[in-house]
Amino acid sequence: MSDPVREVLVDCPAWVGEVVDWGRDYSRDEDRMALAIRLAGHNVDRGTGGPFGAAIFERSGRLVSVGVNSVVRLANCTLHAEMVAFMLAQRRVGSFTLAAPGFDEHELFTSCEPCAMCLGATLWSGVVRVVYAAGGADARELGFDEGPVFAESHAYLRERGIALEGGLLREEARKVLARYRDLAGPVYNRRPEV
Ligand SMILES: [Zn+2]
Repeated sequence: MSDPVREVLVDCPAWVGEVVDWGRDYSRDEDRMALAIRLAGHNVDRGTGGPFGAAIFERSGRLVSVGVNSVVRLANCTLHAEMVAFMLAQRRVGSFTLAAPGFDEHELFTSCEPCAMCLGATLWSGVVRVVYAAGGADARELGFDEGPVFAESHAYLRERGIALEGGLLREEARKVLARYRDLAGPVYNRRPEV
């Protein structure tokens, strides 16, 4: 085993700089989701991680951060696309919450329904809306484990004022999942057979 460490790197692959247009307007939900799915697709095609992408926007349409699944690339089980997007957004705005006074409202768009960990982080992230494309069942079909996500989990977030909406551009996101399966990409933290 190597020496103890006291820091850890969280970043996006360098190609993100080539495929993300930071300056454009993302007022439309479809454009926001298309970006999250495009990130997922590039992550598969470029071999940098699992088939998941996410992005955080201000309600006004400004892109704040993006994330791609980086679990295997950075040897870190917490680096789901949504977690990377949360970390980079909060670093950018300089706050542990995206709901700090004076901020525009923030929304998370993700290519697949958030797992248990990402739902937990969503609660504390400060976003007020989550939109996902593929469903948890689509990810489980591939063998990925979504963890303890229940109807009550979504209800809990809704009671805290966070809107959750699924199915936007689902078929596009499912195509990326299928491509990953066809390439036989690694399924980390695989769902136990039940
Ligand atoms: Zn997750």
